[in-house]
Amino acid sequence: MSTDLPTPSTRKPVPGQLTFTAPRRGKPPVHLADLDEAGRKQAVEALGHKGFRAKQLSTHYFEHLVTDPEQMTDLPKGGRDELVSAMLPQLLTPVRSLEADNGRTIKQVFRLFDGALVESVIMRYPGRVTMCISSQAGCGMNCPFCATGQEGLTRNLTIAEIVEQVVAGARYLRSGQLAGGNSEDREAPLRVSNVVFMGMGEALANYRQAVNAIRRLTEAPPSGLGMSARGLTMSTVGLVPAIDKLAAEGIPVTLALSLHAPDDELRNELVPINTRWSVDEALDAAYRYYQTTGRRVSIEYALIKDINDHAWRADLLGEKLNARGKGWVHVNPIPLNPTPGSKWTASRKGVEQQFVERLRAHGIPTTVRDTRGSDIDGACGQLAASTA
Ligand code: SAH
Repeated sequence: MSTDLPTPSTRKPVPGQLTFTAPRRGKPPVHLADLDEAGRKQAVEALGHKGFRAKQLSTHYFEHLVTDPEQMTDLPKGGRDELVSAMLPQLLTPVRSLEADNGRTIKQVFRLFDGALVESVIMRYPGRVTMCISSQAGCGMNCPFCATGQEGLTRNLTIAEIVEQVVAGARYLRSGQLAGGNSEDREAPLRVSNVVFMGMGEALANYRQAVNAIRRLTEAPPSGLGMSARGLTMSTVGLVPAIDKLAAEGIPVTLALSLHAPDDELRNELVPINTRWSVDEALDAAYRYYQTTGRRVSIEYALIKDINDHAWRADLLGEKLNARGKGWVHVNPIPLNPTPGSKWTASRKGVEQQFVERLRAHGIPTTVRDTRGSDIDGACGQLAASTA
C-alpha cells in the first residue's frame, strides 16, 4: 500500500455528541455508478464519445462486473482506456481481507481515494449470501457500545463508493473463493442476495447517497445490479424525518430500527440520538414505515449484561410494540460484541433466553441474530478503521 495518502483527521467525539455534518474533504472522482442513465450518457458524450457507449460500459460494470478495458472489445480501441478510466475510476483499493467461519465469512477492508478506510462483510448462508456494507467512513451517531461510533465521522461515502462494495462482493463470489453453501446453491451462479446497511455509518444521515445507492442496486441491468429491494435492509438509529422520507420513496426495503432500550432514560445513553427523537417517536415512525410499505420492521437490540437485559425491559418493549399493532414487527436481539476496552459485556445466555421468551410471550416474533465474523472484528458494531 502506498503511504503517501493523507491520514483522515477525524476528531473523536465526546460522549453524547452528535455529528451530522462531515468535515469538508475533497470528493472522489465521479463514477458511472454515481449517475443515472441520462447522466451516464451525458458524461460519455462530454468525453467525445457516442451516447450508446454509456450502456455498453454499464453492461460491463453491472452485468459482467468488469472494469478492465482489455476485456471491453466492443468499445473502440482508440480512446477506450480514457473512456474507462474516466467512467470507471477505481474508488476502492483493497487493503486486506480476513476470513472467518471456515471461509463462509469474509471481511474486506478498502482504502478510499483520500486514505479513509471502510469495511464490508460477505456472509454465506445456505441459499443466500448477505453483504453488510458501509455508508459513511466512521459515524457521527456516537453510540458508546459501537466501535464505529467511537471513531467519529470522517465523511459520507458517495453513491458509487457504496455500490462498489457490493460489486466487489459480487466479483468475489464469482471468483468462487467463498466456502459454504448447499448443493442447490452450486447449481445457480452465486449472487449477492441480501444487502444490509449495517456496516460503518448511519446511512440515513447520508440520505441522498444511500437512497441512490439502493436505486443502483435494485435497477434492472445494465442500469444497475438488479437486486430485489426486499433483499435490502436499511438500519438506523431512528432519524425520524428520514424514516418518513424513506417510506415515501416507494422502494420496499426492510427497515431496521436500532432500539437497544425501550425507555428514554437508558436509550439516551446507549443511542444518543434519542435525546432528539425519543423511543416513542422512533417506534411511531417505524410503525408508519410498516403502514406505508407493508414491510415488517426489525427492531435491533444488542443485549448488554445488566444494562438493558432485564425482564421488565423485555415486557416494556413487548407492550410498546403491541400498543401500536400486531404483526408489524419482529425483534432481533443480538449478544453485544464488546469493543476493545468496553466496560460492557454480552448478557449471559440464560438471561438472553429469558429476554427472548418474554418477548415471545407478548406475541412478538423474536430471533437472536447470529454474530458471524466476531473473531475478525467483522461482526456488528466492530467495524472500525483500525487497519492502517
Ligand atoms: N447506524 C446504523 C447501522 C449501524 S450497525 C444503525 O445504528 O442502525 C448495525 C447494527 O449493529 C445496529 O443495530 C447497531 O446498534 C449494532 N451494533 C453496534 N455496535 C454493536 C456491538 N458492539 N454489538 C452488537 N451490536 C452492535
